[in-house]
Amino acid sequence: MARKKPGQAAGSLVNVAVLAAIRSPLTYLVPNSLEVRPGQRVHVPLGTRRATGIVLEPVSRVAPGFKVREILGVVDPEPLLSPELLTLGLWMAEYYVAPVGEVFRAMLPLRSETRRVRFLILTDRGRQELRDLESSLLEEIRGGAEAKFLRYLADQSGTSAGATLEGIRRKSSRIATELVTHAVAEGWVAVSEQERDRGQRKVFSVRLAGPLPEHPPRLSPVARRILEALDQRGPVVDHRELLKAARGDLSHLKKLQAGGLLELGESRDFSDRTPQDKKESVELTSAQTSVLGDLTALLASRQFHAVLLHGITASGKTEIYLRLIARCLEQGRAALMLVPEISLTPSVQSQFLAWFGSQVAVLHSGLSETERHEAWWRARRGEAKVVLGTRSAVFAPLADLGVVIVDEEHDSSYKQEETPRYHGRDGAVVRARLAQALVVLGSATPSLESYWNARTGKYLLLKLEERIGGRSLAAVEIVDMRQEFRETHTQVPISRRLKQEIEAQLQSGAQTMILLNRRGYSWFLLCRSCGETHRCVNCSISLTYHRREHKLICHYCGYTAGVPSQCASCGSEHLHYVGEGTEKLEAKLTELFPAARVARLDRDVAQRAGQYRKILTDFRQRKIDMLVGTQLISKGHDFPGVTLVGVVSADQGLGMPDFRAAERTFQLLTQVAGRAGRGDSPGRVLVQTFYPEHYAIRLAADQNYEGFYSKELRFRRMMHYPPCAALANLIAQGTKLEQAAKVAGEIGRFLERVQRTSPGLKVLGPSAAPLARIEGRFRIQFLLKASSRASLNDILRRLADHCEDKGIPPPAVMIDMDPVSIM
Ligand SMILES: [Zn+2]
Ligand SMILES: [Zn+2]
Repeated sequence: MARKKPGQAAGSLVNVAVLAAIRSPLTYLVPNSLEVRPGQRVHVPLGTRRATGIVLEPVSRVAPGFKVREILGVVDPEPLLSPELLTLGLWMAEYYVAPVGEVFRAMLPLRSETRRVRFLILTDRGRQELRDLESSLLEEIRGGAEAKFLRYLADQSGTSAGATLEGIRRKSSRIATELVTHAVAEGWVAVSEQERDRGQRKVFSVRLAGPLPEHPPRLSPVARRILEALDQRGPVVDHRELLKAARGDLSHLKKLQAGGLLELGESRDFSDRTPQDKKESVELTSAQTSVLGDLTALLASRQFHAVLLHGITASGKTEIYLRLIARCLEQGRAALMLVPEISLTPSVQSQFLAWFGSQVAVLHSGLSETERHEAWWRARRGEAKVVLGTRSAVFAPLADLGVVIVDEEHDSSYKQEETPRYHGRDGAVVRARLAQALVVLGSATPSLESYWNARTGKYLLLKLEERIGGRSLAAVEIVDMRQEFRETHTQVPISRRLKQEIEAQLQSGAQTMILLNRRGYSWFLLCRSCGETHRCVNCSISLTYHRREHKLICHYCGYTAGVPSQCASCGSEHLHYVGEGTEKLEAKLTELFPAARVARLDRDVAQRAGQYRKILTDFRQRKIDMLVGTQLISKGHDFPGVTLVGVVSADQGLGMPDFRAAERTFQLLTQVAGRAGRGDSPGRVLVQTFYPEHYAIRLAADQNYEGFYSKELRFRRMMHYPPCAALANLIAQGTKLEQAAKVAGEIGRFLERVQRTSPGLKVLGPSAAPLARIEGRFRIQFLLKASSRASLNDILRRLADHCEDKGIPPPAVMIDMDPVSIM
C-alpha cells in the first residue's frame, strides 16, 4: 500500500519500466535521499535480484495489497530518454502488445556511460602487516608475494582512492586472485566500488591526402588495404572501422600519414573541410527540384507532415534526401534516415559522410557493442546531428528532430521479427508526429499500406516519374518456361533466349546481373527409393545443400548436418539433389561461359568479412562480367555498366502461403529491373517464368505500379487483408505439440467469447502454422482480422491479460500486430 506507515520515510511513487520480460510498468518508492526524473535509469529490486529500469511517470497510488519497494539507486545522473522517446516506447509497448521492459531494452545502448570500478584500499591492519613482513629476517618473506602486493597498495594510496583490481593484475601476474581474496579475508585490504566515466577513446577521421600515386612506394599488405579501402569508399570519420576492415592498428595510419599518403584529423572538425563543390555538384532535374521545394516548405512549417515519395528506380531520390537533410541542419535541427540493412549499402554511408562528415552517427545491428554505444552517445550529446541507421535507429536519441526519412519504405527488413515486433517505418511516422517533424517515406514500389494512406489523404503523395539523365526504363521481356520445356524437353535454369542474350553481352563487353532468389546449391536431398527428404531436426522444412561447406543447412535455425551417403530411412544410395540455388547457378554459368568472369552475391557470401564490399567494388570497376545473386543484388545499388538483368525464376515467391506473395514478387521484379540501364546505354530485362499471365509478373514487366496497386487492392478488400482490414498473427507455441495445443485451446475459447461481442472480428484457425515447427517449437496459428486497428489492438491486449491470468508464460503466445509475414 502507498499509505504511509508510521516511521516510513515520506517518498514519492513512480512507475518504472523494468528491463525484463514484464508486460507492465512496476511502481516503486523513491527514497528521500534520491531524486529521480522521467527517462532516468535506476536500479530496482526485482524478486531476489537487482534489475535496471527506466523511470516513467510519477503515480499517486498503487493497487491495494501491492507491496512497494524502494528504488536502490540511479545509474546515470541525467535522464537517458527524452519525453518524446518515452512516449514512443510506451506507444510501441501498447500498440504491439509487447512487454514494456523489452521495448525499452531495445531502445537503449546496452552499457551505461559510467562503469563500475573496484578499488582495493590498504587498511590499518594491512599497514601493520606490511611493517611486520618488512622487518622479517627472512629474505623470502621480505620479498615475497604478500609483501610485494601490500607495498604496491601502500604506494598507490597516496595518489588516489587506491589501486584498481585491473591495475594490480596488470602490474604483476604473480599477484594472483587467491592472494587478493586472502588479503581481504584477513582484513588487510578493503574493497570499494565506484562509478567512473568511461574513458572516451580518441577517434580520428581519415582521408587520402590526394589521388594515389601511379607508382606507390613499397607498402605492407595492411597499408595497401587501408589505402585501397579509402580509395574505394572515400573518407571515414572513425578510424577504427577502417582498421578493422584492414586488420591493422593506429601505427599503420600514423606511418602512412608521415609518408604523406593520408590525412588524420580530429573527427570533430571533419565536416568543415568537406569540399562544398562535392556536395551540390550533381544538378537536380526539374522534377527533383520541384519535389525538394515541396519538402523544404513542409520542413519549414515545423509541423508534422507525412509524405510518400513514389519515385521510379533511378529517379534520384537519394539526391533529394541529402539536400533536405542539409536544409534541416541549416535550421539547427537534427535529421534521421532509416535504410534497410545498412551494412549492405556502403555507398549510402559514404555519401552521408561526404555531405555531413562528423555530424553523422551510424547505427545498425552489425556494429560491435562499443561502436553502437559510442554512436548512440554521440547522438545523445548532440555531437551527431544526423543519424543513418537500420530500423532500431528509429529510437536514436536525437533532440529537436526536423526530418525523418525512411528509404525503401516497402522493405520487409523494417519489421522486427522478434519481441518487440515493431515496424520501423510505422514507428518513424509516430516519432515524427511526436517531434512535430516531417516524415518522408520513399520507394519505387511503395507498400500497399503506404500507398493506401497516400490515396486516402493520410499522407501527401509526391511523385518522380522520370529517371535522371533522361534515361528510359529497361525494356522487359517475358520468357515462358512452359514453352521452353515443350520445345527443348529439358528443364534448364537458363533458357535459350537468356543464353543468347548473355553471349551478346559478353561479346560487347557489357555487364549482366542474374537474379535467383534462393541461396545454396540444391533445395533439398531426395531419396529416389523411398521419397524421404532430409529435414531439419528443429524445423518442419527441408535442409538446403551447400556445396562449398559440403553441408546440409537449415535456412531458418542454422542447423547443419553432414551429407549422408545413403538414405537414413531406407539405406538406399540413390540420393538425388533437387532444385537449384545461386551456388549451383554460378557453377552452371561458369560452365556455360568459360571465358566470363562470374561472381556470386548472397547472404552466404556477404557473411564472409569484406567479401560483400569487394564484390560490389569489383563489379562496379568491371572486373566481373556477370553477377549472380539473390534479392541482395536488387537493393539500391547503382552499376552503370549493367545493361542486362536476367531473372531465372520469377515464380519463386508466388507459391508462398502468404497474402503478400504477389506484392513481394512485384517489388522484387521491379527493383531488379531497375538495376538495368543506369548508365548511358539502355537496359533490358529477361524474366523467366512458368506463370507468364500472373498479374504480379505481367505488371512488373510493364513497370506499372498503379495497375498493380488497383488489382492487388481489390484482392485485399475481397479477402479482408491489410490495408483494407487490420490483421494480427497469433501463434501458440511450445516445445511439445500438446503444450502448444493446450495454449491454442485457451486462446480459441477466449476468442470465441470475444467474437460474440465483437461482430467485426474474424478469426481464422486454429491451424498448423505454414511453418509448423521452427527451432524446435511447434506452432499453432490464428489469424485475426478486424475492421480497425484500435479494436483489434484492444482485443489483443485483453488476450494478453487473459493469458497472464491463466499463467501462460509470454513466450508461449506470439502476438504479431500488422504482421509482414504470416508464415
Ligand atoms: Zn530412402
Ligand atoms: Zn531448422
